[in-house]
Amino acid sequence: MATVKYVLNEDQMPTAWYNVAADMPSLPPPPLHPGTGQPLGPADLAPLFPMALIMQEVSTERAIEIPEEVQQIYRQWRPTPLYRARRLEQALDTPAKIYYKYEGVSPAGSHKPNTAIAQAYYNKQEGVKRLVTETGAGQWGSSLALAGAMFGLEIEVYMVKVSYNQKPYRRALMEAYGARVVASPSTETAAGRAILAEHPDSTGSLGIAISEAVEMAVQREDTKYALGSVLNHVLLHQTVIGLECLTQMEMAGDYPDVIVGCTGGGSNFSGIAFPFIGAKLRGERDVRVVAVEPAACPSLTKGKLAYDYGDTAHLAPMVRMHTLGSTFVPPGIHAGGLRYHGMAPLVSHLTELGEIQPIATQQLETFAAGLQFARAEGILPAPEANHAVAGAIREALRCKEAGKSEVILFNLCGHGHFDLQAYTDYQAGKLKDYEYSEEEVAMALAGLPSVG
Ligand SMILES: *Cc1c(COP(=O)(O)O)cnc(C)c1O
Repeated sequence: MATVKYVLNEDQMPTAWYNVAADMPSLPPPPLHPGTGQPLGPADLAPLFPMALIMQEVSTERAIEIPEEVQQIYRQWRPTPLYRARRLEQALDTPAKIYYKYEGVSPAGSHKPNTAIAQAYYNKQEGVKRLVTETGAGQWGSSLALAGAMFGLEIEVYMVKVSYNQKPYRRALMEAYGARVVASPSTETAAGRAILAEHPDSTGSLGIAISEAVEMAVQREDTKYALGSVLNHVLLHQTVIGLECLTQMEMAGDYPDVIVGCTGGGSNFSGIAFPFIGAKLRGERDVRVVAVEPAACPSLTKGKLAYDYGDTAHLAPMVRMHTLGSTFVPPGIHAGGLRYHGMAPLVSHLTELGEIQPIATQQLETFAAGLQFARAEGILPAPEANHAVAGAIREALRCKEAGKSEVILFNLCGHGHFDLQAYTDYQAGKLKDYEYSEEEVAMALAGLPSVG
C-alpha cells in the first residue's frame, strides 16, 4: 500500500487532524445512554456538544481539516519543538537515541490547548455563549479558560476540591483568563449537593466534577459542556503532536522504534502515538508503543474492559473502556491529571488489539525520573509527564542491557512550574508509593452497569 502523505502548511504544521478510526481493523462499540442503556445517536449528544464535534466523534474519515482560524491560533506556539535528549542519553550511558516532543511551550503549559482551542472554535461557530467543564489539577481548566478568552466565550470550571485548595496558582491562572472557578463538590448542583449530604468533607473527584459540569450544561440552551480527554474528538485534535513528529523525525533522519506516553484519559498519548500506529496498521512502518500509567490508578493494567459510566452521578454517556469503576476515588498522587477511573475507548480498544503495551509506575520512580531529566535537559516536567520520562528511561536502560541502539520517542506533555510544591515534598522525602487497592476497586467494579 502507498504511504499516506499529510499536507503541511507553510509553517510545517499539519492542515488536517489524523483519525485513527480510518485505519483500525475494528471499532470500539458505541457509547450508550446512561439511563436507557441504548446506543446514543447524534441527537442524544446535542445538549452537550456542538454538532461539528459530534460528527467528529463518529467519523471514520482519515483526515479531518483543521479550520484556518484554529491553525492561526496553533501558530502562536506550534509546531512545538522536538528535541534529542543527548545529555540524558549520556547520563544513562545508553546506546539508544532519545527524542522528546515538548508540549509545555503552549500558553497554558501543556498539550491541552490543542483541543481546547478547537472545541471553543466549533462551539462559537454554532452560537454557544458559555462552556462548562471540570478540572482535576487545573491544566484542562486553564486551557479551556485560555480558549474562552480567545473566542469570547464564558467559561465555568468545576475544580476538584482537593486541587482547588492545594493548587491556588492554577485557579489564579484560570481567573486571569476570565473563567469562573467553583470548588467541587459544590452546592450549586443537585449532584454536588447529593455528595455533600452523604460526605460533607468530600475532597471531590473528577467523576463528581464531571457530573456537576454536565448538569449545569444541559440546563441552558446557550451552554454546552467540554471534556479535555477520553472522547474520540479530543484524541483527534491531539494528533497534531504526532503528525508534527512525523515531519520532525524525518528531518532528524530517524524513525521511532518505541513511542512512550503517559495515560490519564489517553489524549496526549494518543496525540503522539496515533499517527505512528496508523502507519503500522496500514503496513507502512513497524513501531512499539508503550502507555505509562500510575500504579495508584492503573486502569489499563489492572482495570476491567467493560461499559462503565463516565461520571459519578451517571449523567454522562456510558462507554466501553478499561475502568476501575466510576465510584473509585484514586489516592492523592501528585499527577492529578492521571487520576481518572477510565481510559479513552480508542486507547482501550487498541490495547485489546495488541497495538499498545501498558505499564504502571510508582510515584517515587516517576519523580526520580523527572529530576534526572531536569538535571540533564533543563526542563522540569509536570508530574504526569514524569510517567512518560520514567517509561523512556526504562526503555533506554533496556537498550543498554541488550546493547541495542533503538530510537525512543516520548511526549513531554507539560512543564511542572505549577507543581513545585510536589517537587519540594518529594525532595523532603514526604511522597510515598501507593499500593493498588484491590478491595476498593472490587467494590467500585461491583457497581458496573449491566449491559447486554
Ligand atoms: C491532563 C494532563 C494529562 C492527562 O490527560 P491525558 O488525556 O491522558 O493526556 C497528562 N499530562 C498533562 C501535562 C496533563 O495536563
